[in-house]
Amino acid sequence: MTFNDLNITPTILKALAKENYTKPTPIQEQAIPAVLAGRDLLGCAQTGTGKTAAFAVPIIQLLSEQQGRPNTQRRVRSLILTPTRELALQISDNIVAYSQYTQLRCTAIVGGVSQKAQERALHLGADIVIATPGRLLDLINQKHIDLQHVQILVLDEADRMLDMGFIHDVKKIISKMPAKRQTLFFSATMPPEISKMVKDLLKDPVKVEI
Ligand code: AMP
Repeated sequence: MTFNDLNITPTILKALAKENYTKPTPIQEQAIPAVLAGRDLLGCAQTGTGKTAAFAVPIIQLLSEQQGRPNTQRRVRSLILTPTRELALQISDNIVAYSQYTQLRCTAIVGGVSQKAQERALHLGADIVIATPGRLLDLINQKHIDLQHVQILVLDEADRMLDMGFIHDVKKIISKMPAKRQTLFFSATMPPEISKMVKDLLKDPVKVEI
């Protein structure tokens, strides 16, 4: 199996080749076709398995295929929520690399650093936002970001967001998005509260486990 077999477009294939990714990992083989087909996804996978590209590559492909259509400019079309600043910045770096030959823009919204630069990046426009819940909620409440046009939501390491006490913030953030969207949900474990969220948020998900 190659990335070519997964129907990845040449602009993204070129970026993956530059990153020296020669073949997809098992989670990428399973997740990429499902996400490209518009399905919801439930992934039980740890970091280190290639999980980031498993969701990021098809998101970049779906969004870049719409680029230039009316109403796609300068709107947040995909939101990736993640528990820690380090993880958010790592995902953002990966997305910048995979999307380097596209017109897409992404930005990271994390706590512990000045908010001003993040406000500016949002006002310039971002197609993909990678965020930790607390700072994102601040920016939503101050009307610096509008989630009404989000088409694809990723919840990364949902169980860790629960452990860190972010679930209330996460639910508030989700309430600001359209109900009609694609949702990709990753969690290494499935405690009852996470299972309930899965039931509430995912519609007929493809399950990916490794
Ligand atoms: P992740 O699980 O997303 O944190 O990825 C773990 C590491 O594997 C990161 O350093 C990625 O850059 C790398 N990686 C992801 N997918 C591939 C691939 N298909 N081929 C080679 N390296 C990869």
